Amino acid sequence: MKSIVCVEPGFLESKQVDKPFPKQGEVLVKIKAIGICGTDIHAFGGNQPYFQYPRVLGHELSGVIETLGEGSNLKAGASVYIIPYLSCGQCAACRNEKPNCCSNIEVIGVHRDGGMAEYIVVPESAVVPTDGLDFKDMALIECLAIGAHAVRRAAITSNDTVLILGAGPIGIGALQFAQVAGARVIVSDVKEDKLAFCREEYDVSGTVNALGDMKAELEQLTDGEFPSVIIDCSGNPKAMESAFYNLGHGGRIVFVSVVKASISFDDPEFHKRETTLLGSRNATKQDFEHVVACIRDGRVKGRSFVTHTGKFSNLIEDFTQWVKPESGVIKAVVEMD
Ligand SMILES: [Zn+2]
Ligand SMILES: [Zn+2]
Repeated sequence: MKSIVCVEPGFLESKQVDKPFPKQGEVLVKIKAIGICGTDIHAFGGNQPYFQYPRVLGHELSGVIETLGEGSNLKAGASVYIIPYLSCGQCAACRNEKPNCCSNIEVIGVHRDGGMAEYIVVPESAVVPTDGLDFKDMALIECLAIGAHAVRRAAITSNDTVLILGAGPIGIGALQFAQVAGARVIVSDVKEDKLAFCREEYDVSGTVNALGDMKAELEQLTDGEFPSVIIDCSGNPKAMESAFYNLGHGGRIVFVSVVKASISFDDPEFHKRETTLLGSRNATKQDFEHVVACIRDGRVKGRSFVTHTGKFSNLIEDFTQWVKPESGVIKAVVEMD
């Protein structure tokens, strides 16, 4: 089969390799669509510190089960999405039903070879059935699941006013699931076009440009109460720190994006609000299943932020263009020929 290997940073190569075979507890999936995300772009650029080369990239994968390992209950021919986080099942986090932050976590396309290939073998516990969904929608499930997990962490209800920091793919995922939970949602970003997109596409209750007087605008949008939940998806330490000062009393902060920085806050500001601070990492099978159900019944839009599409046969050329900032990629999807 054909496999695209990132041989070293900045260099992809097409190789013919043996088609893998599923052992007991595994499934062989024929890849149908590959979502391209920041992780792939950073890995290709050589700025993922723990990355080893050569590596087959690609972890946002959907396809069709072709062969099953012995004794499986799944069906050949079923459409599936692959959950890219493989957990050990034994560490304290796994025993506590938090495999998303397993201390031995392996991510497909990061720690082991991913899905820029015609086929992949994965554990059968790592697939979610998605019959009836379009493959283009399916390539976005990971972004949406990360947003869904953050919303679940904060236990958002219809009583909440949620501020989303950062209107990239993850922020838009969180936005939609906060709305599914019944909350009022305000979005903040530094880019006016992204805010306009959120107003047009998602009917948000307000948008705030983070370059302006955010505190005053939030005060006005919330009748002086400020957001009861702030979810950071900005990847910006300043934005993360602003959450401690723009949160309503009794509120919760969820940090989704990871930054290489120390985050600090003023303790009296933290204490007077009785702030709850939560980290959110990856997503669980429950989140992936929630995403699939919401796309299926139309509560969330799967593909609205796909800006670029391409074919597997042209992946090397397309990918080399997409990594350039001037390409304007928000989300790219590769379909199999
Ligand atoms: Zn991703
Ligand atoms: Zn574990």
